[in-house]
Amino acid sequence: MVGPVAHTCDAIVVGAGYIGCAVASALAGAGLRTALLDRGPIPGGASRANYGNVQVQDAELAHSLPMVTAGWRRFADLERELGCSVGYRRMGSLLLIESEAQWRLMAARLPALHAAGIAAELVPAAHLAELEPLLDPWAVLGACYHANEGQVSPFAFLAAFLRLGRRRGLAVYPYTEVTGFDMAGGRVVGLRATDQRFSAGAVILTTGAWTPRLGRLLGRHWAIPHVHGQALVTERVALTLRNHLASAAFFEQMHVVEDASSHPPEHGTAAASAASPAVLAVAQSTDGHFLLGEAGVVTEDLGAQATWQGQAAIAREVTRFLPALARLRVLRGWAAPVAFTADGLPFLGPVRDLPGLILATAFKSTVVVAPLIGDVVAQLVCTGRTDLDLQPFSPDRTIAHAHG
Ligand SMILES: Cc1cc2nc3c(=O)[nH]c(=O)nc-3n(C[C@H](O)[C@H](O)[C@H](O)COP(=O)(O)OP(=O)(O)OC[C@H]3O[C@@H](n4cnc5c(N)ncnc54)[C@H](O)[C@@H]3O)c2cc1C
Repeated sequence: MVGPVAHTCDAIVVGAGYIGCAVASALAGAGLRTALLDRGPIPGGASRANYGNVQVQDAELAHSLPMVTAGWRRFADLERELGCSVGYRRMGSLLLIESEAQWRLMAARLPALHAAGIAAELVPAAHLAELEPLLDPWAVLGACYHANEGQVSPFAFLAAFLRLGRRRGLAVYPYTEVTGFDMAGGRVVGLRATDQRFSAGAVILTTGAWTPRLGRLLGRHWAIPHVHGQALVTERVALTLRNHLASAAFFEQMHVVEDASSHPPEHGTAAASAASPAVLAVAQSTDGHFLLGEAGVVTEDLGAQATWQGQAAIAREVTRFLPALARLRVLRGWAAPVAFTADGLPFLGPVRDLPGLILATAFKSTVVVAPLIGDVVAQLVCTGRTDLDLQPFSPDRTIAHAHG
């Protein structure tokens, strides 16, 4: 049974993934009494499931470059600010190109990337062996290379924000599911979660793939579909990957996924039983494990079950490009629902006609922007304005399909 208001806060952050942890820590740092809630363990959601790559060159081009480049700059001093190592290391990234169409797609992105100071370049297959000895150059036409990206240890990164937040007075509530909102005078003034009530001047939803579910409680239909993304991890080996790798097919795939998102599969089309197409995404943890992915299907299923079809598809895709990994033993596989939007832009900012509510979710690449988004939301809550132009990211926008 829901009792009277048990917790009076200045700000409540719902969802303790990368974005929620960074936002909650920044709000506490701004002196606000802040609560961070998650329906499950912390960290939760897709943030328990990823490689920690600090991705830059795959940014959405029309509106996101100022956010991504500012987010990237934030990493230079981050470990000092967090007061600990988060395993941050600089490394390059290769977007592998297999067809003339992908080459043209990548080439068309370069002027906008260069104008934003992102020095990505197209490298023909013949020169790839110097950049990435594990890659079979015969498997590709070339790659889009960016020397200046990075990686963090995902759990160290999340734990650092939580620790810093707690030092600043942040109250953290795992296994506390938000099931309703409290309104007064047209404002969102609090929420109900499990058997507790929280009140606050600002409620921030950082709920990833679950955001539409919460929106429906408020009569909103936010267009945030998600993919059931899968990956697997190998034993630790002495081989070294110099870059993080992904396929340029992600950029073509994006359009396929977008088309699928406008015709979502019938409810209950369990991702678990679907044959997941795989697109290469490979990284290596600092201690030598290979992180292999990704298989993904658009689905309404919010489950996190890995499937043998998806795992097998990943293994096939990886060995096509990285034959040296063919004999590695797989330790485990996993999956998570990953939110996206058809226009490649996040839902970031206040919600029209629902004062007191802010969304910060569905970022195209999340790790690179997470610390910055913490600052942006704290500035918005404290001052009502932001240095970053949030207009393109408005949760109330009409969604158009991306072309970049
Ligand atoms: C295999 C794989 C590899 C990836 N690699 C990378 C990478 O290298 N770099 C990168 O930038 N991105 C990567 N991604 C994507 C990245 O993981 C996600 O974009 C990111 O984790 C999203 O973070 P988030 O904080 O927005 O949401 P989430 O991490 O999904 O957090 C949302 C949270 O909200 C909570 N929640 C939902 N509803 C409620 C409720 N009603 N009450 C309370 N809590 C609720 C959920 O439990 C969850 O913990 C990868 C994804 C996959 C699948």
